[in-house]
Amino acid sequence: MIYLDNAATTQMCYDAREIENTLWDTYGNPASSNAFGLEARGVLERARADIAKEIGAGYGEVFFTSGATEGNNWAIRGRIESGEWRADSNGRAFHLPHVVTTAAEHHSVLNTVRALEERGLCEVTCLPVSGETGAAETIIRALELNTVLVSVMLINNETGARNQVERFGKIIREWNIVKGGCHVLFHVDATQALGKTDVNVNDIGCDMLTASGHKFHAGKGCGIMYIRSGTKIANLMEGGGQQLGMRPGTEDPVAAARMAVALRQERAFCGAGLLSGYTKYILDAVREIPGSCVNGHPCGEAGIVNVSFDGVTGEALLNALEARGVVCSAGSACSMGGESHVLRAMGLSDERIQGAIRISVGRMNHIMQIREAMQILRECVDELRRAEVKE
Ligand code: PMP
Repeated sequence: MIYLDNAATTQMCYDAREIENTLWDTYGNPASSNAFGLEARGVLERARADIAKEIGAGYGEVFFTSGATEGNNWAIRGRIESGEWRADSNGRAFHLPHVVTTAAEHHSVLNTVRALEERGLCEVTCLPVSGETGAAETIIRALELNTVLVSVMLINNETGARNQVERFGKIIREWNIVKGGCHVLFHVDATQALGKTDVNVNDIGCDMLTASGHKFHAGKGCGIMYIRSGTKIANLMEGGGQQLGMRPGTEDPVAAARMAVALRQERAFCGAGLLSGYTKYILDAVREIPGSCVNGHPCGEAGIVNVSFDGVTGEALLNALEARGVVCSAGSACSMGGESHVLRAMGLSDERIQGAIRISVGRMNHIMQIREAMQILRECVDELRRAEVKE
């Protein structure tokens, strides 16, 4: 089987697996002050420092979570719950906070803001995305005096489109200085970007950033949340004093170490342009197939290509590909087979949405596999079209 669904999840890499063996004896509770605890704490904090360095953060600004769904919920709910927006620096009172996001965000963002809005806890503006690129064009027009949070993803998980988060960060910084009103925090969901492309929290100018270990070969159930020092958000949960009491619960030093090693390797691979090379190969190959249409402008770094073929449904194509040993997907695994809200937000036709498949490559793929998969894709599209004509 050739696995081309790396945007859904990735296989744990060899070194991350090896670390599990190496640290088999490091089972102390990192909060305990005995020798076992101190050893575990050392592993945990080294991993935190390594990850912080990768994203240009301070060591105390990185929190370990169970993944990006948790991080995204925490960023949004934590901002609203903090109540820190109730009065601006001039003492002006605000009663309802306003959140800005885009229509192409992951459900862990969209459903969180919708749930808060339904409960009357905030107002939400969902910015449109461009039908051509799949990215949000601007955020400035959506900002209001009661805006407290802007949440925008770095790279889209369905199309690979990249938002200009550095530009948005600059707009928000200027807004905060010039406009007064509530202080706007900037949250970036970097789940499909961390490891793939340079992610530096200072270049982006974000206050919070979330990512997930299973997208960069570190295994499932682990993630990171960056919170800029001084940012006031509510604790995720109440509990013990772990992670400054903000995200309490016993930490998993092994998962943290897996993330640190997997992230370093992902950066080395992607930084050398290898994943972009794979993406370019796929883009060239699909464009050579007559009647193909790439959905959105995929940034090469993420390894994601979303494409529709005239006269072929995505479902039939995915089945034909899988029967021949190539595994792709219809879009986000988190949509559980529902229609893509991302392609819908881009205003694509029903036919193009139903025809869409997502091909997503990773560093565990070999270029020979990708070549073979593209040959099979060409043949499957041809066969399905011929079958259609006969019927
Ligand atoms: N955000 C984005 C952009 C994602 O692609 C995903 C995973 N599909 C998530 C958030 C949720 O991540 P997790 O699986 O770690 O909860």
